[in-house]
Amino acid sequence: MGDINILSNDLINKIAAGEVIERPASIVKELIENSIDAGASEIIVEIENGGISLIRVSDNGKGIKEDDIEKAFMRHATSKIKDEHDLFKITSLGFRGEALASIAAVSKVELITKTNISDFGIKAYLENGKIVLKEYCGSTDGTTITIKDIFYNVPARLKFLKSPSREQAYITEIMQNLALSHPQISFKYIANKKNVFITTGDGSLKNVIYIIWGKNVFDNLIEVNSTKETITLKGFIGNSKLEKSNRNYQSIFVNGRHVRNKTITAAVENAYKSMLSINKFPLFVLNIFINPELIDVNVHPTKAEIKFSDEQKIFKEVYSCIKESLLKKDFIPSYKIED
Ligand code: ADP
Ligand code: MG
Repeated sequence: MGDINILSNDLINKIAAGEVIERPASIVKELIENSIDAGASEIIVEIENGGISLIRVSDNGKGIKEDDIEKAFMRHATSKIKDEHDLFKITSLGFRGEALASIAAVSKVELITKTNISDFGIKAYLENGKIVLKEYCGSTDGTTITIKDIFYNVPARLKFLKSPSREQAYITEIMQNLALSHPQISFKYIANKKNVFITTGDGSLKNVIYIIWGKNVFDNLIEVNSTKETITLKGFIGNSKLEKSNRNYQSIFVNGRHVRNKTITAAVENAYKSMLSINKFPLFVLNIFINPELIDVNVHPTKAEIKFSDEQKIFKEVYSCIKESLLKKDFIPSYKIED
């Protein structure tokens, strides 16, 4: 007999889950992205104990049809793409069809969902990725997913989680980025039964910034709104009074998705050169709109990093947008002294 074993589906799912679900914050991100993709205008997020004991995301989106419930929790099952062509024009946040399968593989899940064509809701419980109970229930339109006991069946991963307050900080960062990139959605974020923040969903990014970062930031913002050859850049940047000692006040969204990208960060920071003190960083919330065919979001399983087909061009365009906005606002006329 040979030495090579074929792994069971259960085990394959647990291993694969590790790529998508690293910590409670990953679950929060995936669930909210699903709510956004479902067209929700109101999303409520409740966590307890840094998300380790409980995460609940409720939305008023389109809900999941009864026939789709089982498929929703299967790996590589998605309603968002059909074939290879769709890969290059993705407009939804999800498309890999992995999140719910991964979450269900490593935690206990309760789903309540109702579409507007159904008179009643459906409640389902899952353990080890399998539906253990399904019943009809009363519900409003939309979906509520409750996650309990993350990694209860993967003790090695549970051990690697940080303290509840550290895990909560990761979740808060995700919540802030999602609220900042979706001012048209009302987010209610509750931790340990206390409201952390509530955004109104009135569509104003500036108001979301006020709610998250307060009046001083709000009072020192410069609006950015310009279009170059390949990108349109919209958002807010801090003026030179808003020096920050770290990069926690920098958010970049490309076509609505929060990303990290060194080229964009460098372009913005370069535009501020000599305006800020040494070792200080600018504050910015920037939405970049670009033809999806010029980016590849598929480079990372959690899609946190993206690649542009022409990074240098992006650098130049972002740099000049920011420079122009800064000059417009912070320009102090200098007069030539006649002699
Ligand atoms: P993906 O988002 O990549 O499609 P997921 O595993 O996150 O994969 O979700 C699987 C499917 O379940 C989605 O394609 C969608 O059809 C459905 N779904 C998940 N969450 C929601 C929700 N909150 N509202 C409506 N449908 C949902
Ligand atoms: Mg998803």
